[in-house]
Amino acid sequence: MQEPREGRRIEIRGTVQGVGFRPWVYRLAQRNGVTGRVWNGPQGVTIEVFGPEAALELFLHDLSIDVPPAAVIHEVRSLAIPAVGHDSFVIVESETAGDRRVSIPPDLASCAACVSEILDPANRRHRYAFTNCTACGPRFTIAREVPYDRPTTTMAGFTMCPECQREYDTVEDRRFHAQPNACPTCGPRLRALAPNGEELASIDPITAAAQALVGGLIVAVKGIGGFHLACDATSSSAVTRLRERKRREEKPFAVMVADLAAALQLADLSSEERRLLVSVERPIVLARRREPSALAPEVGPDNPLIGLILAYAPLHILLLGAAGTPLVMTSGNLSEEPIARTDAEALERLRGIADLFLVHDREIVTRCDDSVARIIAGRPVVFRRSRGYVPRPVPVARPFVRPVLAVGGHLKNTFCFGVGDAAFFGPHVGDLDNLETYDSFVEAVERMQRFLGVDPEVVAHDLHPEYLSTRYALTRHGAEHVAVQHHHAHVASAMAEHRLEGPVLGVAYDGTGYGTDGTAWGGEILLARATSFERVATLRPIRLAGGDTAIRDVWRITLALLDDAFGGDPPLDALALFRDIPRKRIAGVRQMIERGVNAPAAHGLGRYFDGIGALVLGRGVARYEGQIALKWNLVANATEAGRYPFELVEAPLAVLDLRPLVRAVVGDVLAGAEPGAISARFHNTIVAATAAMVHLAARRAGRVPVVLTGGCFQNALLAERVRAALVPEFDVYLHGEVPPGDGGLALGQAVVADATASANAGD
Ligand code: ZN
Ligand code: ZN
Ligand code: FE
Repeated sequence: MQEPREGRRIEIRGTVQGVGFRPWVYRLAQRNGVTGRVWNGPQGVTIEVFGPEAALELFLHDLSIDVPPAAVIHEVRSLAIPAVGHDSFVIVESETAGDRRVSIPPDLASCAACVSEILDPANRRHRYAFTNCTACGPRFTIAREVPYDRPTTTMAGFTMCPECQREYDTVEDRRFHAQPNACPTCGPRLRALAPNGEELASIDPITAAAQALVGGLIVAVKGIGGFHLACDATSSSAVTRLRERKRREEKPFAVMVADLAAALQLADLSSEERRLLVSVERPIVLARRREPSALAPEVGPDNPLIGLILAYAPLHILLLGAAGTPLVMTSGNLSEEPIARTDAEALERLRGIADLFLVHDREIVTRCDDSVARIIAGRPVVFRRSRGYVPRPVPVARPFVRPVLAVGGHLKNTFCFGVGDAAFFGPHVGDLDNLETYDSFVEAVERMQRFLGVDPEVVAHDLHPEYLSTRYALTRHGAEHVAVQHHHAHVASAMAEHRLEGPVLGVAYDGTGYGTDGTAWGGEILLARATSFERVATLRPIRLAGGDTAIRDVWRITLALLDDAFGGDPPLDALALFRDIPRKRIAGVRQMIERGVNAPAAHGLGRYFDGIGALVLGRGVARYEGQIALKWNLVANATEAGRYPFELVEAPLAVLDLRPLVRAVVGDVLAGAEPGAISARFHNTIVAATAAMVHLAARRAGRVPVVLTGGCFQNALLAERVRAALVPEFDVYLHGEVPPGDGGLALGQAVVADATASANAGD
């Protein structure tokens, strides 16, 4: 007797394409003895299954566990349908009628199965640097066109050998439709090159590179999204040499290790940090450095954090295994330039930096730097969203009315496209202040546009007229241009990420952003919707003598703060910071401020971190932007509970006056208090003042959700304490996958521009 058959249609949404999802469903169906079909649609994956009730239940249960590592399931919907005749289970060709938005997945870190193959001497892929499968390997960075298929990738030139072809064609195989599938017989090859481009043919390239690294040399390594510069992270002389050659004085380098066990030798890692390190996105994870450790101090001079990354490509695993030491892995460029992508580019631009080049013939189409993330309040916050995340869409609550391009800001630029119910960020571009980076930006925008098959009708840009991104936006003729205020964009970005419709109270703290009054904002409380915002409170502005010069010569900010707080007569002679600064320079800076010449007013909270940090740490010059602010943050003694006074001047626009804090800090410094205690009190003051401003704003706006956004919220202590001060009275949202800093700006620009443009059109 036959059991009655039932039917179900299952819709799965999320990151389920290009990650081995359909073959996995196929295998589940085989295992549970159900029939039917599975296919990729524009929205995700659809399954129709038929079989006895009990088998269907088991199949549905299996669907919820053990999903392929790179798959992210947002939603599963199951619907009963009539049982029709299917005598097998099949994978159906993709529906092509829909849009092609989700067709290219991000690059995926090597899976455990592939890693064990390359380490197994009996396997045909033993020590093969281009091993991958449906669950892992390059994707976005090797795609030339859509749909994502082998002939449209840089693997097109490699014809699969019979064995690889059989894997590719066999639905039960781990490599069924793995587009970059390859083996030593048929796939890409490594080569080691001398700086003059000559191949070192007599030695295995991995061995050559490992020997060079162990010998203290610098090796340029062609990876997934571009070249890295590598050196032995335990060797002070190697790291110092890399710093000199790369012209990067003190900015910390990321360190790559083979596995979690090696990471634990270098940092104290929470369980969340461990999970993030091994995630398929494999970002650089910022964590507390272990003291002492084998790392050379020059890796991150004077910095308690370390950026750790686990090997994510077979090449890295082999290289780390052969070198037997953690490696500095920093982007292959001179400071400020885009990361090198082609062999020729690397040989030209990294000449004089690298002693050896480890290259290969699998071309990289799209540059994609390593992503950077940190655990804040127990959850990952992505600081730089690039390789591993891009081009995975960010779903938004309200679908975009028309396709939008948002060009992002100036520093740490990323752009984004808004199409349908999702936003697609491009890879990290970097600071748009040289031609190379600008060209790389334009190229990346245009490629992404082609991949998505959209023609943006709205182009969003920052309000700042001088940004190169703004100028690019204005070259896009035929589209409607919408200028979006910087902090409104930050707030809208957080709203979009958390699918909040608004209004919200946005706490937007950063270094600088162009305000509607032409001054630099950055200590803002905004009552915001997608279409508009009201500036409810801000920070008393300070003068930046010399503009951007003050961001490096931070003592200029300190001087402005002190003069303001002490009515022009601060006790400079008693402060260590000013001991070595010639009186003439001090007089010069004061003159600039008095005359208001090249001394713009700045409201940015980041500038207070710079200025007060410099004062207490006795260090007046930053080697890179934000160095002193970061140090000032990290020195805080978390057990200190005290705080300083502040004043909140209530007017239509409330102004937070921190002059009482400045005077109290000077008092503490003169009394010989510990910098760690002063920093904690400083943080606690900002937290209390923020809570006061939010409460003030809530009197007008009601208890609406609060979002914390802007680069200052990369500061874990600040973010966690502000959140703790407002919860549970308010629903408080931190950023997650969308960066709090300017790397997340484009999403907010897109949302605001879309809402504004459609509101205008409706008038
Ligand atoms: Zn794999
Ligand atoms: Zn092969
Ligand atoms: Fe910003």
